Amino acid sequence: MRLAQERAEIVRFAQRLRPDGLVVGTSGNLSMRVGNLVLATPSGLDYDTLTPDLVCVTDLSGRLLEGRLEPTSEMPLHLSVYNTTDHTAVVHTHATAATAVSTLVAELPVIHYLVALFGGPVRVAPYATYGTPELAASVTGALEGRTGCLMSNHGTVTVGSSLAQAYQLNLYLEWLCEVWLRASTAAGAVGRLPRELPAKELQRVIAKFETYGQVAPARPVSG
Ligand code: 13P
Ligand code: ZN
Repeated sequence: MRLAQERAEIVRFAQRLRPDGLVVGTSGNLSMRVGNLVLATPSGLDYDTLTPDLVCVTDLSGRLLEGRLEPTSEMPLHLSVYNTTDHTAVVHTHATAATAVSTLVAELPVIHYLVALFGGPVRVAPYATYGTPELAASVTGALEGRTGCLMSNHGTVTVGSSLAQAYQLNLYLEWLCEVWLRASTAAGAVGRLPRELPAKELQRVIAKFETYGQVAPARPVSG
C-alpha cells in the first residue's frame, strides 16, 4: 500500500483524539500533506475502527484518489491551509476548554508565555457553518501568522510541519484555554481580571523560542 507510514501516522494520532480529551464521538479531523497529496480522516467514522487502508487520499483540490470512504466534511478548511501556506499538517478538534473560550472572546487573552508557541495572540475565527468554504476562509484568516486559532462556537485548528507538531500544539492550546477559564472564573473572588502579559514580553518569548530546547549543538562535557 502506498504511503503506508503516513497512513499509520494519521491512524495513530486520530486514535489519540478521544483519550486525550480533544474530541467526543466522531468530532474533529486530521490531515497531512505529502507533496501534492493530502491524507485525511474519513467523515463520521468511529476513530476506533479507523485502519490505514480507510485513510482518504486526495489531491490538493479535494478529488478522492484512494480510499472508499468520504473524506472529512472539513476538507475545504484543510485544503485551504495547504493551498495558502507551507504547513503540512492540520488538526481540528472540539476540545472542551477551547470550545468554551471560543464563545466568549475574540482573542485568547495572553496570560501565559506559552501563547508564544502560536506566533502571537490566538485569534477566534468568526463563526460559519461546519464544512463550508466560509468557515475555511474564516479559519485561514485567523491563522495568518499563527500556528493555531479557535473557531467561534465550534473548536480549534492547529497547524504545523508535521502531524506530531500540529497535534502537540492542539494540546497546548487546550491547556492555555483551560488556564484562562480557571483564572477568569476565580477572578471574581479576588475582584480583578487575570493579569495579562505585555505584547513586548510575548515578542521576547517568541524570539527566545527560536533556540528553546535541543536546538543548539550539544556542548562537550569538560573536565
Ligand atoms: P467529520 O466527521 O466530517 O470529520 O466532521 C467532524 C467535525 O468536527 C466537523 O467540524
Ligand atoms: Zn468540527
